Amino acid sequence: MRVAAPSGGTRSVQQNKTDELNGLMPSPAVAQRLRHDARYGLAEQVAPGVLRVLADNAKDYTGAGTNTYIVGDDSVMIIDPGPDCPAHMAAVMRAVGTRPITGIFVTHTHQDHSPAARALKAVTGARTYGFGALSPDILALTDEDVDPDFEPDERLADGHCVGDGMWRLTALHTPGHFPNHLCYQLAHQGLLFSGDHVMGWSTTVVVPPLGNLADYMMSLGKLEAESARLMLPSHGPEVADPTGRIQAVRAHRLMRHDQIIDCLRRGIRDVDAIVAEIYVGLTPRLIDAAKGCVRAHLELIEKGGAAGEKPAYPVSRPNAPSATA
Ligand SMILES: [Zn+2]
Repeated sequence: MRVAAPSGGTRSVQQNKTDELNGLMPSPAVAQRLRHDARYGLAEQVAPGVLRVLADNAKDYTGAGTNTYIVGDDSVMIIDPGPDCPAHMAAVMRAVGTRPITGIFVTHTHQDHSPAARALKAVTGARTYGFGALSPDILALTDEDVDPDFEPDERLADGHCVGDGMWRLTALHTPGHFPNHLCYQLAHQGLLFSGDHVMGWSTTVVVPPLGNLADYMMSLGKLEAESARLMLPSHGPEVADPTGRIQAVRAHRLMRHDQIIDCLRRGIRDVDAIVAEIYVGLTPRLIDAAKGCVRAHLELIEKGGAAGEKPAYPVSRPNAPSATA
């Protein structure tokens, strides 16, 4: 990571509000507006052969809810089945219709993404795919809303492909938000399913110990290199300019990094004090998330801000690169 010169002090409330409006800060007001406009239970076509069904699980960090994607024509793949909510499952199955499901793909094992995979598999018999469950010793480190039980039928490593022709999905391992996070690329259409790594409504929370900022920035670079035409995140609307969005998210993180370095140089070292200094006007219920992000930046600064550093935690690895078709 670049360690830039200090940005020159505290940002204004207005600047933080501008970041909210631009989707660079989580905002309950923006989430509320998205929820107001949401079309729960309906399937929307967002690209040729790609339907989106929005789950009604809106929270501060999920925007209007989780997007489940249904990908294909005569047969379909499901990306991020979402929370185990009967109404959402019914909506997904309505959108699938009589078409066979050839695979259920999970971006990562936060509770708003993977739990419905079990219900969907029970109903359809489809195989499940993902990076792999986190080990119990890693799970013991966090109180995040993790789905501890999801273990895919088939583990995917970076670059593994499933499907063929028009509907060939490539897994991209993108740790940073979460160790077992995968994005999925449908190269034939220039589509990137970005999970939580890059969202359409807000920047992503990166909170240690499972979140890792060095990994997050490296994974951003990996996604940018794909030069996707359209990005389909698990939260928020589709992104018509994926490269621009990725660059904006990176610039936002670097801006925060500069601000925190500036705080340290001015003797402001306590996490609470740094949050009060740079997250001016932040709604109180997002303060814990802001503290987590500050800790992620401090962790990187303490390590010398070296990009390319391996994560400090052991990450489960796939057994063998077998998931190709
Ligand atoms: Zn997540």
